[in-house]
Amino acid sequence: MTSHPTLPLTEILLHQGERDLPFNAVSPPIFQTSIFCFPSYDAFRDALSDEESHYLYTRGNNPTVNLCEEKLAALEGAGAAKLVSSGVAASSLAILGSLKSGDHAVVVEDCYSWVRYFFDTYLRKYNIEHTYVEGTDPAEFEAAVRPNTKLFYLESPTTFTFKLQDLAAVASIAKKWGIRTVIDNTWATPYFQNPLALGIDVVVHSASKYIGGNSDVIGGVVAASKPVMKELFEHQFLPLGPVPDPFAAWLIMRNLRTLHLRMPRHFENALALATMLESHAAVEEVLYPFLPSFPQYELAKRQMRGGSGLFSFRLKTKRVEEVKTFVDSLTLFKRAVSWGGYESLIFPAAVKFADDAVPADRLSLIRLHAGIEDVELLKKDLEHAFAALEGRG
Ligand SMILES: *Cc1c(COP(=O)(O)O)cnc(C)c1O
Repeated sequence: MTSHPTLPLTEILLHQGERDLPFNAVSPPIFQTSIFCFPSYDAFRDALSDEESHYLYTRGNNPTVNLCEEKLAALEGAGAAKLVSSGVAASSLAILGSLKSGDHAVVVEDCYSWVRYFFDTYLRKYNIEHTYVEGTDPAEFEAAVRPNTKLFYLESPTTFTFKLQDLAAVASIAKKWGIRTVIDNTWATPYFQNPLALGIDVVVHSASKYIGGNSDVIGGVVAASKPVMKELFEHQFLPLGPVPDPFAAWLIMRNLRTLHLRMPRHFENALALATMLESHAAVEEVLYPFLPSFPQYELAKRQMRGGSGLFSFRLKTKRVEEVKTFVDSLTLFKRAVSWGGYESLIFPAAVKFADDAVPADRLSLIRLHAGIEDVELLKKDLEHAFAALEGRG
């Protein structure tokens, strides 16, 4: 277990950067402005020569956005953080900032689908190669290293199959070879896991999940040391332009105020539901890192302080029709993509395929998001779906 960084958590979430707001406002203002003006030629020139530390144009810095970034950096114990327009933008920037033509990356195979797409199709156009690894054994990374390997791209745990990487072990292999490590920390959030403290170089998040936490905003975060973030700001963020809207930054700050209340509840509810499912006769297996039966339970406890609300399970079935019956019998769990909001969701892996073309290993796999509702209501909803499956519903 690693400890929380620097400031007390509620100081970051509720007060950091908010003590001296204009007109003694309690809620930070939204600076809905595209440009900033200057009292003199000299001041104008100074801002142009160093956009990273000035307000010039909202495609670079904006006070509302920067306030949000200050909190996000503190949450990850990072030198700096950048809020960007989406989680996908965050990982793309972090990857592009780590590789050039001719380089090679080692990538966790079950990483977010659009990140896979980025490596498989987009980066190939620029002669950047990659090797996929399952990632559960640090030796896989060592074995995949080539002379031109510049990046280990991690996601721990992955968010359909829940495979963990040993972050301290992988970071130390990377350091030995001078390879940068980037991790997608969306699942655990900085509330439960701080990869930089374990030696990882760059953390990315989809803020559309728990950091936003209310299913009302799309955003992403990159956090790292000051020099890495300065490079990223000047050479990836400014030219590519995945700018967060000041209002999105304000919503994220507003929603962050309850992070420390929401996350323990997601954990509690997910653990209760995973435990219930594990003992159900119609369930083949449950994948949740904080179930004692989970193959990497000890590692989960070592590098995370707890778990979030997302997990998956396999129904004992080989028929899509049965999966449909189960999914359609739920009334509280909503059928939707994404996760990390207050509400419970269900995403059957099979729904990505035509009914007659579902791969065997995906057919019975179902992902649940445990929201912050009363867990007894959630249990009842699942019981009802199991009853429907057995023809009793
Ligand atoms: C959703 C998600 C992303 C992408 O984030 P967006 O905000 O949707 O672009 C990246 N990684 C993980 C693990 C995610 O769940």
